[in-house]
Amino acid sequence: MTQVGIVMKESPEDRKLEEVLRSSRLAAGGFMGHDNRSVSEVIDADATELSRLGFTKEQVAERMRQITKVAISGLGTWVQVGDGMEGKVDEAKGWLICPWPHKGKLAKRITVVKVIETGESIRWSDLNTHLISEHGFFEGKGSDFRIEPRKLIRTIF
Ligand SMILES: [Zn+2]
Repeated sequence: MTQVGIVMKESPEDRKLEEVLRSSRLAAGGFMGHDNRSVSEVIDADATELSRLGFTKEQVAERMRQITKVAISGLGTWVQVGDGMEGKVDEAKGWLICPWPHKGKLAKRITVVKVIETGESIRWSDLNTHLISEHGFFEGKGSDFRIEPRKLIRTIF
């Protein structure tokens, strides 16, 4: 019976979104990885985690954008992007599209950030930044570009 409740609160748009996010149409392997939770459950859990850590998705996305912007200046080489932090940007041909969907295309750009002291690194695409900023979506567990909020915050702040 609990299943019924879950199905009922899902609109056709939600179902379509789930489908797109789990398919490989826009991203190899999809955006949900092996995560069995619904998209809204993934978003809620990460939002809870973020607020526990004392950050908003806007703050996180803003910092990601800043770092990407600085890293772009390195033209593919490592540059300092913060205290004890190096960043590098790799650009690929083509565009990424928001699965929600949103109008507009995002550059296929990957930012890698490394903490020099620990060697710990994290990477994101421009689409990750958009998904976090606009949708609070860090992707499902096991997805290639899943970002763990805790690790992201530890690395970039
Ligand atoms: Zn979007």
